[in-house]
Amino acid sequence: MRAFNQVFNFSINIHPIRQKREMHRSEFFRPVLSLCGRKISEANLSNTMKLRSGATIPQVSREEADRKHYLTRGVLTQMHLMPNGDPAAFDKAEDGSLIYYFDPARVVEAPPEQWYFPRSRKETRALDSGTEIERMSIKRAASCGYYTRERLDQMHYEVVEEPVAFTVKGDGTTLYFYDKKTAVRLPLACVKCGKDVRYRKKLCRACYEEELAIRRAEGDIHRNAYYGMDRKRVLFFDLELTGVYDHDEIISISIVDGEGTVIMDTLVKPAHKKKWKQTEKIHGITPDMVANSPLLDELIPEIKEIFENADNLIAYGVSTDYSHIKYIYDTEEEREWLHKKTRCCANEFVRFAHEHLPDLAHASLTDAMAVFEIEWDGVAHTSIADTIGCMKVWEKIFPNYYTEAPDNTLEEAGA
Ligand SMILES: [Zn+2]
Repeated sequence: MRAFNQVFNFSINIHPIRQKREMHRSEFFRPVLSLCGRKISEANLSNTMKLRSGATIPQVSREEADRKHYLTRGVLTQMHLMPNGDPAAFDKAEDGSLIYYFDPARVVEAPPEQWYFPRSRKETRALDSGTEIERMSIKRAASCGYYTRERLDQMHYEVVEEPVAFTVKGDGTTLYFYDKKTAVRLPLACVKCGKDVRYRKKLCRACYEEELAIRRAEGDIHRNAYYGMDRKRVLFFDLELTGVYDHDEIISISIVDGEGTVIMDTLVKPAHKKKWKQTEKIHGITPDMVANSPLLDELIPEIKEIFENADNLIAYGVSTDYSHIKYIYDTEEEREWLHKKTRCCANEFVRFAHEHLPDLAHASLTDAMAVFEIEWDGVAHTSIADTIGCMKVWEKIFPNYYTEAPDNTLEEAGA
């Protein structure tokens, strides 16, 4: 420690920037007794400890602690006091457990529920380290945040500090309580093998990889199947709306088939809405632009005919589009018929990404196009460019979507 402090002091005289760097380095090299159980034994010789709060406290002997009038937790409890912040120092008991010392200037009165118990039960006991701890009921211990080793174990905490209280069971055996605040939270175990530490989705790395490989194989069968679809009867579509709510109206419709032929690409004049300031910034369609466009009602017969001749209707995030376009039909039967034809390109991309690119954080159409190295056709984020992008992403996910199975047997139906 002293050597590093000398470096630190020395560097102050040289240069302020240098000083900062040296300070950083001394922090880095300082032998830290981590609260992590495993590191404690490795750092037995260290004389400081870094607390969870980031503070570093020194190791002191019992004599030194007495000289400084430091109090152990046991004494604090007996005095109906509790620490107001970090301990000021620590020591290690012979069995390796930690003893914290608290500065009497930094303690507060414990709340009454923690000490208002029948006086008759007051009893203390000295641990081998010399620390006195109080006898208390399990109930009172719990109100102080003290638990037995077994209970902490169940809660996935590892005890590092010496006991802070005890109780005597009916059969005369002693049960020790430990402070949960100073116990170390253990990493949770894999829910599948129960042995290794969790990595993702509550599984350890090996179990996760194993499970991912199974899901990926299933997904690949689904994606690589021969669907034998007719390019002219697979339609990709995108709507722009005045807003996100059910009462919002369609102001643009783009439909492209599996060959890339534009089937419909039109602005739509809303029947009720006069302005849509919020979404205007997103899709760039202004009230002026749609002033002379057809109303949705005028387009319905044509849209119905297009949908009639389609086997699949695919959009990137189809549920929003479906929830608005379904109103061109009056009956639930017709809407259900339409819904059965819809497919969501975003859902399929998310599944693909989960199975092949588990580190991919976002799954927008732009992300999907970037993954498959697809260039924008026309102006990015216009309705028609999005629709064509969706069509190309779909074919990357399902490379045999328009291909008949080589042996004429249908491998899997209904992508
Ligand atoms: Zn596992």
